[in-house]
Amino acid sequence: MHETSIAMGFLESLSQLLEREKAKKVVKVRVRIGKLSGIVVDSFVFAFDALKGQFKGLEETELVVEESPIRYRCNSCGHEFTVETVFFPECPKCGAVDLKLLSGEELQVIDAEIEV
Ligand SMILES: [Zn+2]
Repeated sequence: MHETSIAMGFLESLSQLLEREKAKKVVKVRVRIGKLSGIVVDSFVFAFDALKGQFKGLEETELVVEESPIRYRCNSCGHEFTVETVFFPECPKCGAVDLKLLSGEELQVIDAEIEV
């Protein structure tokens, strides 16, 4: 499963963060996952919980996921808008299809609560 390797990589980077900060554990971590990232949130959370026991200091880490919407800016009129579907988006204001993707592809850490 795709999400398993992403969760594994994410846990490894959290583990490195602990080492760098010389901290005991990560209590809670918040991440933002874009709807275009290709990550199934439920699978990602499941994999995270299944794997975290292998990492010292991450055994009890609480994972909070925020899904970020798909946002575009119209290159024609500058209007910014959010869409639910990725198929053939067009500007709701002027109908242009020349759009710039602003968000939706990210897997990004918002913040982490660390106990030292
Ligand atoms: Zn437009």
